[in-house]
Amino acid sequence: MSTSFEQLQITQTYLDKLKELGIGEPTPIQAEAIPVLKQGSDAIIQSQTGTGKTLAYLLPALEQIDPTQKQLQVLVVVPTRELGMQIMQEIEKLTAGSPIRSQSLIGGAAVVRQVEKLRLHPHIVVGTPGRLLELMKIKKLTLHHVKIGVVDEVDQVFELGSMQDVESVLKGMLKSSQKVFVSATIPQSTEQAAGRWLKEPVVIKINPSQRTAETLEHMYVVCQEREKIDTLRRLVRLIKPKSAIVFINVTDDIAQVVAKLQYVGLSIEALYGEASKQDRAKVMGNFREGKFQLLLATDVAARGLDIEGVTHVFHLDPATNAEYYLHRVGRTGRMGREGTTISIVTPKEQFILDKFEKQLGITIAPKAMYEGRLVDPAQDRSAAAMRSRREAARPRDAAPVRSGSAGLRDAAAAPDAREFNAAPAKPTAPKPTAAGGKAVSKAQRERDRKSKGAPRWLKEKQQNKE
Ligand code: ADP
Ligand code: MG
Repeated sequence: MSTSFEQLQITQTYLDKLKELGIGEPTPIQAEAIPVLKQGSDAIIQSQTGTGKTLAYLLPALEQIDPTQKQLQVLVVVPTRELGMQIMQEIEKLTAGSPIRSQSLIGGAAVVRQVEKLRLHPHIVVGTPGRLLELMKIKKLTLHHVKIGVVDEVDQVFELGSMQDVESVLKGMLKSSQKVFVSATIPQSTEQAAGRWLKEPVVIKINPSQRTAETLEHMYVVCQEREKIDTLRRLVRLIKPKSAIVFINVTDDIAQVVAKLQYVGLSIEALYGEASKQDRAKVMGNFREGKFQLLLATDVAARGLDIEGVTHVFHLDPATNAEYYLHRVGRTGRMGREGTTISIVTPKEQFILDKFEKQLGITIAPKAMYEGRLVDPAQDRSAAAMRSRREAARPRDAAPVRSGSAGLRDAAAAPDAREFNAAPAKPTAPKPTAAGGKAVSKAQRERDRKSKGAPRWLKEKQQNKE
């Protein structure tokens, strides 16, 4: 029998709020974590993406706040501004009309204004490690009264090169304060870090063997590097997702990538690391409101984001490792909803997906675009054969238009053998070696890039890491 929020002894104020927000029953991670956190234990909370980890820690944290005390009592540390803003919104929804004051202390925003607002003594702060530390150093922020400190997306926070910052922030809290680490992925390195900071932590893991949501469908399409943008364009035309996220690996030319994608007619905007906080907030706001269809993002930028209506996740570059794949695809298929994820890979990159299949225990199905549908490439190959027989019998002047050039009808429907991306069955795909990867000279690659319009994917770099 499932537990209710009443049984978890959530106070009436929050029960009412939850009802207002349309949240009925606690999710398994909430049912498990809330009592542990209420008891005051340190904890590691791990469950799949989109299973409600935020409320699992926010509800017990908010309940610990004594609004009559003008002190900071709850701290939530996050890796990115976007996630910080999202969690702030969640807190604001839960505390609207109550005397609890919250504030975000995230990078990219004016320090002066944050310092000024700190004079109002927030009870709960959501912050990024760098900015929190900066304010601690100038003695505008003290963590001595923090009762509970949560690090969300903890593996990312510790990985981001902000290790020292986050450690200094954790040191700023009293030893006796409760500490909670949260993520869908807790690699060994994070577990070790947790060992240093948490006192006898209760480890709460829900269904750890099921690493990605069962409601997710994983697919891939093979094409050449220079065809990736066009393949994405055709996929989007074919699927017509209401809202989707497109991932690329870390690159310095995200502006160039987004420009190319816009040039081929996609409704896409990017989350730029270097853009101002206002610009990033505007992009996120517009995406949430459905003002454009696709959000181009890197792994870090999209960590933890919960955006309603995202039905598809595309990978224009394959994820760097299984954990990154898991967080990427976790932007869809949340809370039992269905989601589809499609990796667009070159023949050389296919082996990366084989690894993800093994490591995550999932099946990533090969697909090809054929007559306005996504089909099994084997089916497609027989269709291609039939078509070439048909074409051979057809008079020359009735040859079909070639797809791929702008302005033609949907490329997906254009019968051109090249268009089928007829992927060889994955197990037979040759495993590229480092030497194989280097067979194409750098100069050649650069020429390809310039002449074919392919962006700099940093693919080689990623492959060499594997
Ligand atoms: P996670 O951090 O595990 O990836 P989130 O905390 O972002 O997941 O929650 C995912 C979505 O589910 C959010 O939109 C949240 O409002 C919603 N949600 C959280 N708890 C519940 C619940 N008990 N019932 C229904 N929806 C919920
Ligand atoms: Mg989360």
